[in-house]
Amino acid sequence: KDGAEAFEFQAEVNRLMDIIINSLYKNKDIFLRELISNASDALDKIRFLSVSDPDKLGTAKDLEIRISADKDARTLTIRDAGVGMTKADLISNLGTVARSGTTNFVEALTETGDLGLIGQFGVGFYSVYLVADKVQVISKSNDDDQYVWESTADSTFTVSKDPRGNTLGRGTEIVLHLKEDAGEFLSESTLKNLIHRYSEFITFPIYQLVEKEEEIEVEDDEEEEEDDGDEDSGDEDGDEEDEFEEVEVDVKYKTVKTLDWERVNANVAVWARDKDEITDEEYHNFYKALSGDTSDAATWIHFKAEGEVEFKSILFAPSKAPHNMYDHYYDDSRGGLKLYVRKVLITDEFDELLPRYLSFIRGVVDSDDLPLNVSREMLQEHKVLKVMAKKLVRKTLEMLRKLATEEVEDEEGEEEHPYIQFWDEFGKSIKLGVMEDNANKSKLVKLLRFKTNKSDGKWVSLEDYVAGMPEWQSSIFYIAGESTEAVEKSPFLEKLNKKGLEVLYLTEPIDEMTMGSITDFEDKKMQSVTKEGLSFGDEDVADVKKREKYYKKMFTPLAEHLKDMFKGKISKVSVSQRVEGTPAIIVSAAYGYSANMERIMKAQTL
Ligand code: ADP
Ligand code: MG
Repeated sequence: KDGAEAFEFQAEVNRLMDIIINSLYKNKDIFLRELISNASDALDKIRFLSVSDPDKLGTAKDLEIRISADKDARTLTIRDAGVGMTKADLISNLGTVARSGTTNFVEALTETGDLGLIGQFGVGFYSVYLVADKVQVISKSNDDDQYVWESTADSTFTVSKDPRGNTLGRGTEIVLHLKEDAGEFLSESTLKNLIHRYSEFITFPIYQLVEKEEEIEVEDDEEEEEDDGDEDSGDEDGDEEDEFEEVEVDVKYKTVKTLDWERVNANVAVWARDKDEITDEEYHNFYKALSGDTSDAATWIHFKAEGEVEFKSILFAPSKAPHNMYDHYYDDSRGGLKLYVRKVLITDEFDELLPRYLSFIRGVVDSDDLPLNVSREMLQEHKVLKVMAKKLVRKTLEMLRKLATEEVEDEEGEEEHPYIQFWDEFGKSIKLGVMEDNANKSKLVKLLRFKTNKSDGKWVSLEDYVAGMPEWQSSIFYIAGESTEAVEKSPFLEKLNKKGLEVLYLTEPIDEMTMGSITDFEDKKMQSVTKEGLSFGDEDVADVKKREKYYKKMFTPLAEHLKDMFKGKISKVSVSQRVEGTPAIIVSAAYGYSANMERIMKAQTL
């Protein structure tokens, strides 16, 4: 082609495209969600830029999306009036630069096979190759002429200056040449349903080109005789009409098909609506539109904060944790909240609104109190933001607390605890929170769940634990180990089991660290059953002392002998009364690492 430059896709991108174009994935329609969301992102960007410089809008002032199908050409076109892409953008964004999520997504794909997750990995665009075998991206940015990107997913793409000139004004038009088996996306009603599903919560108007039947007037004098003349003949005393009668023109109507743009989405920001008027289904749909998640949210909270700073917000807890969520906890956990100021999206990459351990929360925050032209840098400094952050954490914990009290019945009438499902997915975040968020520690501690020697495989809270304690018990007991099976068999439990005391099982590597940062709960101190100095609270102190003194004396020679024998391996030998059937056990010093902790430190895992 004339003046077209050819480029090779970056290797990982190429591999991904290969997988997509050959995929048998059933829910091919997700490509539309990805394209609409990209169009919306591009519109958000130009709207943000135009806040400080209205001239940036130029002649393309209508911030909207238009979708049309051409049955004859078998093409589907999605057009937006967003920021557009320069030639350089087209080359780097759509092919030569591997986006950080590319490799992760390919990995996740081989594990889960769920192509629907593509949007979460920052490579959503390539989903077009689920339905198209040739794609053109025509784009006009304020900073360049209009260019055309084109690829048939054959490991190369071309970019050329558009010979038609700068026809778009500004924005991007994506033309999909549909595959043989993707003809359904040419159907008006199929498209309408999909656009509805995927765009209900896009805050820009979306129009679809639809066929309309229209009655048009036709002059038809050949069929004069057929005129029954009812109206004219019955209109005997109308003088003026008589004049018309003389003209003898018969007006007839004919139905013709015309094409017209029809608005599909409602475009009222959900968070600004009255929550009593929003259905659960709408919340779920909004969550999906916002997050790119394919499952429903686990729960949400919709509120208006008043006082020092006013803002509206909806926060969601997902029901599934993203793939390998904790792998990059410390270096890459982007915040999941979108910050709007008077419905203009300011940023969705902001980590200051929620602490890191809550980065899995999704949602929107819209404030009227921040200046519209606030820069991302300024925002970091803004004290309003600190106030907002505080409220957002409080509301998030309130939402989780509420979820924790919920009990539902499944179809068979069995009790289900939605919080436990949440705990299975995101429990680690709560544990991290206990260690990282001192101000909210007491609330977070109540959100912890444990299996115990008495819970029969079920999860219990510390509140449950304390409620089940005998009155004399003064500590909350726990035992740490590799797995439930391992701790269950531990000789450290013998005495406690016999006394009927409950012991929390800490079986995740992180558990002991979390427990280490909790000193007490409801005035009961946390006590490892594998550490020195274990007491239960029911001992008769004087009696115990006396007995201990006696045994200590009696066993001094043995203790010394043992200490000699294990020289360098143990720090002391003491006589204790903690075991029942086992003759001797090795314990850890009260302030040293426990055996389990040492195991973890050796493995160096979080
Ligand atoms: P993501 O949207 O997560 O960044 P995508 O694969 O969907 O990932 O898109 C890749 C990039 O291509 C976007 O980040 C954006 O820079 C660019 N892009 C895609 N579609 C458009 C569009 N309609 N207008 C402007 N830029 C776009
Ligand atoms: Mg995208």
